Amino acid sequence: MKKYLIAMTVGITVLASCDGGKKDTAEAESFEYSVEQFADLQILRYKVPGFEELSLKQKELIYYLTEAALVGRDILFDQNGKYNLAIRKTLESVYTNYDGDKNSADYKNMVIYLKRVWFSNGIHHHYGSEKFIPEFSPEFLKTEMLKMDAAELPLLEGQTAEQLYEVLYPVIFDPGVMPKRVNQADGEDLVLTSACNYYDGVTQKEAEAFYNSLKDPKNQTPVSYGLNSRLVKEDGKIQEKVWKVGGLYTGALEKIVYWLEKAEAVAENEAQKAVISKLIEYYKTGDLKTFDDYSILWVKDLDSRIDFVNGFTESYGDPLGMKASWESLVNFKDMEATRRTELISNNAQWFEDHSPVDKQFKKEEVKGVSAKVITAAILAGDLYPATAIGINLPNSNWIRDQHGSKSVTIGNITDAYNKAAHGNGFNEEFVYSGVERDLIDKYGDLTGNLHTDLHECLGHGSGKLLPGVDPDALKAYGSTIEETRADLFGLYYVADPKLVELGLTPNNEAFKAEYYTFLMNGLMTQLVRIEQGSNIEEAHMRNRQLIARWVYEKGTADNVVEMKKKEGKTYVVINDYQKLRDLFGQLLVEIQRIKSTGDFDAARAIVENYAVKVDPTLHAEVLERYKKLNLSPYKGFVNPVYEAVTNANGDLVDVKVSYKEGYVEQMLRYSKDYATLPFCNK
Ligand code: ZN
Repeated sequence: MKKYLIAMTVGITVLASCDGGKKDTAEAESFEYSVEQFADLQILRYKVPGFEELSLKQKELIYYLTEAALVGRDILFDQNGKYNLAIRKTLESVYTNYDGDKNSADYKNMVIYLKRVWFSNGIHHHYGSEKFIPEFSPEFLKTEMLKMDAAELPLLEGQTAEQLYEVLYPVIFDPGVMPKRVNQADGEDLVLTSACNYYDGVTQKEAEAFYNSLKDPKNQTPVSYGLNSRLVKEDGKIQEKVWKVGGLYTGALEKIVYWLEKAEAVAENEAQKAVISKLIEYYKTGDLKTFDDYSILWVKDLDSRIDFVNGFTESYGDPLGMKASWESLVNFKDMEATRRTELISNNAQWFEDHSPVDKQFKKEEVKGVSAKVITAAILAGDLYPATAIGINLPNSNWIRDQHGSKSVTIGNITDAYNKAAHGNGFNEEFVYSGVERDLIDKYGDLTGNLHTDLHECLGHGSGKLLPGVDPDALKAYGSTIEETRADLFGLYYVADPKLVELGLTPNNEAFKAEYYTFLMNGLMTQLVRIEQGSNIEEAHMRNRQLIARWVYEKGTADNVVEMKKKEGKTYVVINDYQKLRDLFGQLLVEIQRIKSTGDFDAARAIVENYAVKVDPTLHAEVLERYKKLNLSPYKGFVNPVYEAVTNANGDLVDVKVSYKEGYVEQMLRYSKDYATLPFCNK
């Protein structure tokens, strides 16, 4: 019990789930992680633990930064496609003014379509980027548009509702118009065939020629060309329209700057103040050199508790990979969880010295990596509603080389995913019995996070190559072997009594939750992500199957792991957890040998034998069972609501956070309160 309490203070965020304390349980019950489900999406909500304990000044800073995040919302809609804002406004007006039969198929399908437009920040799938086709009729839309007060529609001067409908009809309904947001098909003009709004009137050749002429191959510190502009051809001349105050998107950027200036005034320290001030300068000038200066200041600001991203950041949405979508994330350091990763890192040498691998392959001096764990306070732009669970920025290669990068995992988002998954029927379907399910309920989140920490903070950094071994000797098998090595390091140590001693796990059986989950995933359930008939391609998936199949096979004589049939269904059963740990250790020895000696033939043999091929019968069974659960493959989040409390003088005296807002409610409020950009509807 004592150790358990120590563990609590070491990693309270992750341990909250296995905490028997009454307060936490009560809170967990009243907090509804799942908001709603539609199409292929599930909407979740996340908590912001620790917000109440921040100082008033820190809360004030977060409040201003969250406002600076939310006022940028329209930018991404416009970047994703030129008609997105007009479509959003039109559909929202239909939704709010509708007085017909709400049980009609047209109305219901229009609502689903609108929810998908909100989720994707436009009319294309957020992940696959293909246009989704509405299941309501064009006539329904037209009737509703003509019926309503013209002031409700995004009309240009002199434009009628009917004319607007004629503009929007093909964009929404014709599958051949703007079919993909980002087209990557080799051989086509990727710029002309992509619906994203980063280019206007230019061909791929013209865009490439324009940027090639700017680049100087001798420049070791180049700016990120094209990052913050739309490239257009006007009167035969190709030029950039820069996203800056006074330029394109000025309506949104002025408001972002307004809130950033307020944030600057309550910054935690001089370094952070300088970061915010440089970002404001960049938004005002659009100068990419200033953006680099800002990125360098940002990456060096490690002492502030509060941190944020606000800007044109990721270029996945541009077929040429230059122009960046706008996004924002406001966060603060999770002190307890970060202490957990630091504790692991500080003991890196102990773990290296005690690992089972051959002494000649060990590092004499090993340094763990401390990944920071953060708590997200708001998600916006390209991180909302679908978000990443970790980020690593900046993207500029020379800045990363010379100044480093910040790598963070978002603890409260990971936690929300985990909590929402509890009780979704998945474990009930695939876990063998109540014994394993209890272990997973109690310790699954904790040991899952610990395995990730061990993998990231120690696994990749452990071991060494023998002198003269080419780091690329394993070629195409290199990344699978590397992930296998890091995962095995984590699996081996998650069961080590040292973790109990350090207070990272509460007892000597918590690790069983991770062992069971890992094997069930590697042997069976990860196959839900593979189409029937396909092999496993992705390195992490290969690594998991490699480990699981290898220990399954090697443990047959001792019956360590079994695949049991119960009522026609296949289950993983672990009969001997200690022997399983020994097998993980043995495989780690071999994988480290392959890596350290650059043994290509052995790498190929072990990957091809264990990691690639799929048992078609088991695969079909798993897909069938998974389908019946009706789980959404994609998830996103609603944000908490922050409310600034002011006194009679207008001074901010408190910031309150609440979690009651629903998905539709939030989207409609954002559209009303944070509308900043004009519509395009010609
Ligand atoms: Zn890894």
